[in-house]
Amino acid sequence: MNENMQSIELDARGASDAWLIATGAFAPLAGFMTHREARCVVESLALPSGEVWPLPILLRTARTSVLRRGARISLRYGERAVGAITVSEWFSVPRSWAAAIYGTDDVAHPGVAAFVKGPQTAVAGAVEWFADRSSAGFGGLTPAETRAAIAARGWTTVVAFQTRNPIHRAHEYILRTALEVFDGLFLHPLVGETRSEDVPAEVRLRCYEVLLERYLPRERVLFTPFDGWMRYAGPREAVLHAIVRRNFGATHILIGRDHAGVGSYYGPFDAQALLRGVRASLGIEPVFFDEVFHCARCDAVATRRTCSHEPDGHLLLSGTEVRRRLRNGEDLPKEFTRPEVAEILRTAMAEVRDA
Ligand SMILES: [Zn+2]
Repeated sequence: MNENMQSIELDARGASDAWLIATGAFAPLAGFMTHREARCVVESLALPSGEVWPLPILLRTARTSVLRRGARISLRYGERAVGAITVSEWFSVPRSWAAAIYGTDDVAHPGVAAFVKGPQTAVAGAVEWFADRSSAGFGGLTPAETRAAIAARGWTTVVAFQTRNPIHRAHEYILRTALEVFDGLFLHPLVGETRSEDVPAEVRLRCYEVLLERYLPRERVLFTPFDGWMRYAGPREAVLHAIVRRNFGATHILIGRDHAGVGSYYGPFDAQALLRGVRASLGIEPVFFDEVFHCARCDAVATRRTCSHEPDGHLLLSGTEVRRRLRNGEDLPKEFTRPEVAEILRTAMAEVRDA
C-alpha cells in the first residue's frame, strides 16, 4: 500500500458493508452503489439489471476533497488500512430516499435517523479488502467458507435463520420445526451494530451456544455470526437478509413475525408480504412462520395454525417482551426462555446495571 495514498476513514457500518461486498455476501454487488443503482433500488426494488435488490448500499463520507474519478483510495478502519475503493463517481444523497426505504421519514426511527444524519456525499466504486478479518473485528465465516462447510456436510437443503434477539422458546420452536424438514440449519445471528436497547451480540451468542450444547443436535447446525448491521428497514431488510443468505449457500430462509422491524413502524406480516411478491426471483425460498406463543391449554408452544384455543390462554413470546422483562428485572418463565438462557441474560443485565 502506497503511504501517500489518499484515504477515507470508515465507521463500523462502512467497514461492515465493505467486508460484505468484498467477500461476496452482497453479490452481485462488487462495490458501493452509484447514484443510478441506488435510485433504481430505492424506486423499484431492483438493480438496473432487473435483479431484485431492496436497499441502497452507500459509502457516505465527508472527505470529499480526496475524491477523483478513477482514483484508488485507501479505506481505513480503526487506525489501519483495511481495503480500497476505486472511485467511479460521487453524488449527493437525497434525503427523500429515507421515506421510500423505511416507509416513514420519522427521525425517531433508528434507520431514518442514521440515514439523515450521515454525510451528504456518497462515493461509489469497486471495493477491495486486504486486512485480515479479525483485525476489523469480524468473526463470521465468509460465503465461500460457508458454502464449503455446507458441501462438506453433504446437505442439499439448508435453512437459514437470522435474528438480532436473544433466543427464546418461539425461536426454538421455529428452529426445531425447520430441523424436522431440512437437511441442515444455518444459524446466522447478526452481530454488527444494533440499537443500544438490543441485547449485546456476545451475550446473544452465549445464549445460542448453550442451546446448541444442551438441546439441539449440534451436527445438524452450522453456527457462525453474521457481520452485518441492522438497518431496521423491516420488509426491505427482510429481502436483503434473504439475498445475503442465498449468497452464503442457504436454500431456504425462515421469516417470522415483524422481521427486521422496529417499534410499530411495520405491520407484523409486511415483510412476509413483500417477500411473497419477489420470491420467484430471489434464488432462495422464504419459509414463513405465524406468530408463536405458549398456549396454556395445549401446554405447548404453538401458532394459530396448530392451536384451536382462544388467545386468552396464549403467552406471546416476543423479543420485545423478553427485553422488557429483563429491563424491569422480572422473571423469564420457562415457557418463555430456557433456564440456562435466562441465567445468561440475567447475569449480563446485572453487569450492565452495575457498570
Ligand atoms: Zn392451544
